[in-house]
Amino acid sequence: MIQHERVTLLGSTGSIGVQTLDIVRHHPDRFSVYALVAHSRWEELARQAVEFNARRVVIGDERYYDNLKTRLAGSGIEVLAGSEAISEVASDEACDLVVNALVGYAGLHPTLAAIHSRKRIALANKETLVVGGDIVMSEARRMGVDILPIDSEHSAIMQCLEGEKRQSIKNLIVTCSGGALRDMAKEELQSVTPEMALRHPQWSMGAKITIDSATLVNKGFEVIEARWLFDIEPERIKVIIHPQSIVHSMVEFTDGSVKAQLGNADMRTPISYAMLYPERSAIAMEEFSILDYPTLTFKAVDHDKYPALGIAYDCLHRGGTAPCTMNGSNEVAVAAFLGHKCAFTDIVGAIEYALKRAEFTAVPSMEDYDKANIEARALAKEYLKL
Ligand code: NAD
Ligand code: MG
Repeated sequence: MIQHERVTLLGSTGSIGVQTLDIVRHHPDRFSVYALVAHSRWEELARQAVEFNARRVVIGDERYYDNLKTRLAGSGIEVLAGSEAISEVASDEACDLVVNALVGYAGLHPTLAAIHSRKRIALANKETLVVGGDIVMSEARRMGVDILPIDSEHSAIMQCLEGEKRQSIKNLIVTCSGGALRDMAKEELQSVTPEMALRHPQWSMGAKITIDSATLVNKGFEVIEARWLFDIEPERIKVIIHPQSIVHSMVEFTDGSVKAQLGNADMRTPISYAMLYPERSAIAMEEFSILDYPTLTFKAVDHDKYPALGIAYDCLHRGGTAPCTMNGSNEVAVAAFLGHKCAFTDIVGAIEYALKRAEFTAVPSMEDYDKANIEARALAKEYLKL
């Protein structure tokens, strides 16, 4: 029987964060909250901290520290602010499990801090592995730390690999819904609005990943994520479009057998799988019936319409700081698109511009990643004239 775990949840007010708290709520014997972290929504953070009786809270944006501190006065909950405090609660001795549901580059340093303090890590923040997968996974191996993926595709692959030998794996097949704009022609993408791109057909997620899903940057990032999580060459990671989002991913084996993991598009399944591994949650999720899906379809990706996937493979082949440059420029461009400051197609334009001009470091240190991230963001701004 696995003991009770005290959880530090990074990004508690976000889409994954809120669903993670739902898992904690349903497993009071198994989990309690040690610390909660959010960026700016301090009122929601305070409410969560009181409900879950957190010991500590961190607000990323220091401007809200006073508000949060006043709201929680007399509660006994310690209030902290800023990025160093995030790494501190992710590595504190009093916590056992870190769920990293931050969005973007901000997730990288806290993941490493958690690894260096030997925490079990449930990882939703894919940007951690996109940017620094090499360092992160080698440090995790060195420290004997488990990194359990929350991303549904990687959870599916992990489930398919249970009990299998490494040498039996032929290919990983990552499925892709195609995102909100999948039924549009390439020519129409230029005039897409944020509202259109935010309408994901299956998954309800944070704004950034929903836009990344529409450009397929998200799928490119998932290929990079899979490369590091499962230590497999990029050539053996395939992406196929599967519009129903029922098959969450597959693994092809050397004997011709293919295993797939299926289920509803409910992130609480992969979140709970990562948190409770090797057990499974028994909470009431909406029942899945394969009879509701008599037709599951699959098709190849249109690389002409979705150049971002090929760019991600290129970055993976180049290695070094290339994926970090892709990530940083994408973050700026997605925020600009969401703020109506650029066209949808400028997102890939900004990524290509940054990749052409950024300084390339083949074997980066953490400082090199920080520098490459700053440079990528500046180059994207230059391209977008922000
Ligand atoms: P979100 O935007 O809904 O939530 C992000 C959370 O992180 C919020 O709580 C926000 O306050 C916090 N945050 C962001 N920047 C911060 C900073 N600098 N300092 C402190 N806190 C900060 O995002 P999300 O959709 O929940 O996604 C989180 C991560 O999970 C992303 O990496 C995403 O790619 C990944 N992911 C999400 C889903 C999903 O269904 N939402 C699925 C797979 C993977
Ligand atoms: Mg995913």
